[in-house]
Amino acid sequence: MHNLTISPIRAFSDNYIWLIVKGNQGFVVDPGEAPPVMAALQDLGVQLTGILVTHHHFDHTGAVADLQQATGCGVWGPQSSPAGPFEHTLIEGDTVSVLGERFTVFEVPGHTVDHIAYYSADEEALFCGDTLFVGGCGRVFEGTPPQMRASLEKLSRLPAATRVFCAHEYTLANLHFATLVEPENIDLQEFLVVCEQQRALDQPTVPSRIGAELRYNPFLRWDSPAIRQTLKDQGRLSEDTPDGVFAAVREWKNTA
Ligand SMILES: [Zn+2]
Repeated sequence: MHNLTISPIRAFSDNYIWLIVKGNQGFVVDPGEAPPVMAALQDLGVQLTGILVTHHHFDHTGAVADLQQATGCGVWGPQSSPAGPFEHTLIEGDTVSVLGERFTVFEVPGHTVDHIAYYSADEEALFCGDTLFVGGCGRVFEGTPPQMRASLEKLSRLPAATRVFCAHEYTLANLHFATLVEPENIDLQEFLVVCEQQRALDQPTVPSRIGAELRYNPFLRWDSPAIRQTLKDQGRLSEDTPDGVFAAVREWKNTA
C-alpha cells in the first residue's frame, strides 16, 4: 500500500525531477531547474513542503535556492557536499519524514563523493540520483570503481519490488550497450523491446524495479559467467573479481 504519489517532472533534455505528493503537499527530488517544478505545482494545486538532494551536480541542485526562497520549503541533502551546506544534512542511516513516510539514507559514493540515496520500505521506493540507472549506472567521476560497485551492491540488496526512481532517461542507450556485454540475455532483449515501445510513445521507462535490474543491468551482474567470458574474449578483463568485472564494464561503456 503506497501512500505517496510519485510522478516525473521533465527537466533539461533527459532529467527527471521526481514529484512526491500526498494530499495538497509535495516534495521534489533533485530540482535542477525551477520553471517546470513551479508549473507542475501550480497545475496540481500542490504546495512544496520539501526538497531532497542526492548529490551536488548542477542539474540536480540548480533550482534548490530559488524554490526554497519561493516556497519556504525545507531542504535535505548530503552532509559533506560542495553544493551545501543544506538546511538539513544527512549521513548513512539517517531518516527523513517525507509527508509522513519514513525514508532511510544510504551513502552511495562513486559518481560523486557526496552522493546519497533515499529509500522507503513501505513505499517500495528508492531515489538514487545518478548512481543506479535503468539498465546502467552513473559515470564514476569522483570515487573509484570499487567504491561505486559497493554502492550499487548496497542498492541491489534492497527488496526486489523496490521501485528505482533514477534521475535520467538513459535507458535505451544503456540497454543497447548491455546487449554488447551480454548478447544472449533473453530478459534484456525482451525489456529492450518494451522500452523501445515506451520511448516511441514518449513515455518514461523509469521507474524499474530492483529485481528486474538484477536480471539485465550489466553493472549489477559482475558474477555473470557470460559477461566475464565476453570480457575475457575481448581482452578487457585484467582482474577476474567482482571489482575487476565492474571496472571493465564501466570502462567499456565510457568509450562505447
Ligand atoms: Zn550527477
